[in-house]
Formats: sequence, structure tokens, C-alpha cells
Amino acid sequence: MPIRFYNTLTRRKDPFEPITPGEVRMFVCGPTVYDASHLGHAKTYTHFDFLARFLRRRGYRVTYAQNITDVDDKIISRAAQLGIPPHELSARFEARYREDMAALRNDSVDTYERAHDHVDDIVAQVQALIDRGHAYRLADGWYFDLDSFPDYGKLSGRTHVEAEDSVARVDENAQKRNPGDFALWKAKKPGEPFWETPLGPGRPGWHIEDTAITEAVFGPQYDLHGGAVDLIFPHHEAEIAQQEAASGKVPLVRYWLHAGLLRVDGAKMAKSSGNFLTIRQALELADFRTLRYAFLSQHYRSSMEFTDVTLANARAARRRVENFARLAEPGRPESTSARDLAERARERFFAHLDDDLDTPGAVAALFEYVREQNRSGEPPGPSALALLREADGLFDAFDLDRSVAGDGGAAGDVEAELALRRELRASRRFAEADRIRDALRARGIVIEDTSDTTRWWYQDA
Ligand SMILES: [Zn+2]
Repeated sequence: MPIRFYNTLTRRKDPFEPITPGEVRMFVCGPTVYDASHLGHAKTYTHFDFLARFLRRRGYRVTYAQNITDVDDKIISRAAQLGIPPHELSARFEARYREDMAALRNDSVDTYERAHDHVDDIVAQVQALIDRGHAYRLADGWYFDLDSFPDYGKLSGRTHVEAEDSVARVDENAQKRNPGDFALWKAKKPGEPFWETPLGPGRPGWHIEDTAITEAVFGPQYDLHGGAVDLIFPHHEAEIAQQEAASGKVPLVRYWLHAGLLRVDGAKMAKSSGNFLTIRQALELADFRTLRYAFLSQHYRSSMEFTDVTLANARAARRRVENFARLAEPGRPESTSARDLAERARERFFAHLDDDLDTPGAVAALFEYVREQNRSGEPPGPSALALLREADGLFDAFDLDRSVAGDGGAAGDVEAELALRRELRASRRFAEADRIRDALRARGIVIEDTSDTTRWWYQDA
């Protein structure tokens, strides 16, 4: 079965065939750097990080680009509130964003492209739109003329008459030809940053940044565009209009993938609704693996409800895999049937991912494997470890090194302590046994006695 992705443009799962076989050019809308990124952003970027890792694992040479919106109304108004220059604010929050992504191990982006560094490309693209009759000038800047682009609406299924419903960053001007016409270039206003250009002094509109950047990095057509579902309209629709109108080449992008939103009490997590947790705050509640697991154990297209048990559930699920890994020994001889079990689980794992990146299915395949292997009565061996390591190369959600006893990890030492504690308890030397328990607890290790054994795990996981 080929890899298939649900394509917002065609509204079905399409087989994945990049323009150049074996190569994937992939773009995801990056942040507007005017404030700290929240957990909703973390969800989106973790899913697309997973996608890039998956495509690479599947043998594609992936170039993954993200833009950094560092020129924007929101940046200008926030900087004015704080009384600092806009570039200082954007530099601060760009650095913060990059730190947050590194902390979440979202490390698959090849290039971050700032709007600031692409003003010439932006001006050239607006000029191409003017030359081809798609743009007109008003007192406050250049606008895209929706009437000039009959394909407008093909991604979102809206007509350009409905474009006036747009609530996101509307460019208000009563003189516009159509209510949905959006700004390509905003004329200079007092106190705002501007560039002297052939379009007049001013600064870029929001949508044009992305297409000028992707044209500079990838050319007028590329393979895959991702983003959160709330960007489909008007932002991604505007990207299609700009680039396809400027180049005449259709389609701009073959595959449009959209991630569902993170919801809190039924509402989208957003700065404007005040119900948000920054990525940094979330990383104080849980480590990066628990957060990655919480996101990736759900399908990227689903919206995710964030509740007070989300992190606890993710932690418990991770622990089941890590506890299983702790029983594994890389050098242990194993039966053919154990190897077959792991190989079949691997096939199921990838079959789920090939089918529109079904990460919940892939996780379920891992848990099914853990159950089957446990039921076989044979302790997990090298093929189990190989499977878990391969899965974790994508998920980055399981602490395998710390778990595996025979791998030079800490687990062997913990097992030795627990064996000593069992002996002490058997000879009723409870005070000494409790001291071992307390010492382990001081190292962040929690233990639980069952009738026949002692289970343990890391508290901070
Ligand atoms: Zn964008």
C-alpha cells in the first residue's frame, strides 16, 4: 500500500506522489512572533515534526521549511504597548519559539525563513501580481483582486462573496473592490516600520510572506503544505490565489494537510480567549516525552480536548511501554516466534502510519505487541528493543535508554536495589528495606509492591 494523506484540497485520501520522486518539499506556517507560543501551537508543530520524521524514515529526502512572521500588525501593536521597537519584540519571541521547539524535540525543520529577510522576494511577487492584473492600489496599499482569480475558494469550499465572513486579520478599507480582497502591501503609517520600495514605502501583508518565501525556497510549486485547520481560510486560500495567479502554475501545492485544534473546555486554546498554557508552562507540568505522547497518541486531524487527566493518561501509557522495555535485554537469545511477533507488529505499525499518519493506530499496534509478547511468557529480547527504538525514532516519547537494564542504563542498578530490599523484607528487616525505598524515592523512583513482584517507574516521566 502506498502512503496516503487526507488532502484538504481534494477532500479525500490521496496516494502520496511528490513532484520529484524520492524528494519532498514541505512547508508549514510558522509563528507570528509577538508572544510566547502556547500548547495549541505545540500540538500542530509536533504533528508536523512527526510527519517529517516519518517521511524521512520512509526514505524520502525531505526539505522542511517554516516561515517566521516577524513583520505584522500584532507585533507592531504589542511592541507599542511595551514601548520597545518591533524588531526587538520579534527577535525575543523568535528566540523563545526556537527554544520551545528544541525543548519539545521538534527538530526536523531544515530552514526557518524570516519575512524580514525576504522583502525583495515579497516586492517581486506583488509586482508580478500587478503586472498580470491581479492587484490594485488604494491609498493604504496594494490589494489582491478576488474577481481576477476564479479559482478562489477551492481549498476551503467558500466563494469569494463569503470571504467577507473572514474574521482573521481582515484588512479594512471601504474602497476595496470586494469585501474579501486582502492587502498585499501596506502603505507606510506613522510610527510603523517600513521599506522604501517600487511599490511605495510600506510593509508586507501577512499572506504574501509565505508565498514569497516558498517561491524563493522551493519555486512556484511544491509538495506539501501543513498548518492548523484554522488557517485554511482565509490564509491558505490567499496563498493559493497569490502564487497561482503570479506564476500561472497550478497547483501551488499538491497536498494540503491540516491539524485539528487543541481545545480547553470546548473552546480553541488561544491567546485571545485567555485559556492558554504556554509551552514553557506545560513543560513544567510534564516532560517533553509526555507532551509528545499526549499529542501523537491522537490523530493529527482530530481536535484534542486538553483536560486535567490528559497528562496523567499520557504518562501512564508511556510507562507501560517503558516498563516493558525494562524487561528487555539486547543480548538475550530469542525464539523465532518472538522475532515474528516483532516483525508483524512493525508491519502493523507502519501500515497505520502509511494510512494518513494514523498515530493512534500505530500506538495501539505497539500496545498489542507488548500484550502478545508478555502473554508468550518469553522475556523481550533484541527484536523487541529494535522495534521500540524504531518507533521511538518517530515518536520521541519513550525513555528507552533509562529503562533498559542491560544497556548500561540506570535500571539494572534499581533492580539490584529492589532485590536487596526484597531480601531485607523477607528477613523482616523492614526499617532497612524502607530506607532503600526512601533512597529510591529521592532519586525520583516510585515503587509499588504487588503480591509477587515490585513494579517501579520514574516519577517525573
Ligand atoms: Zn502562513
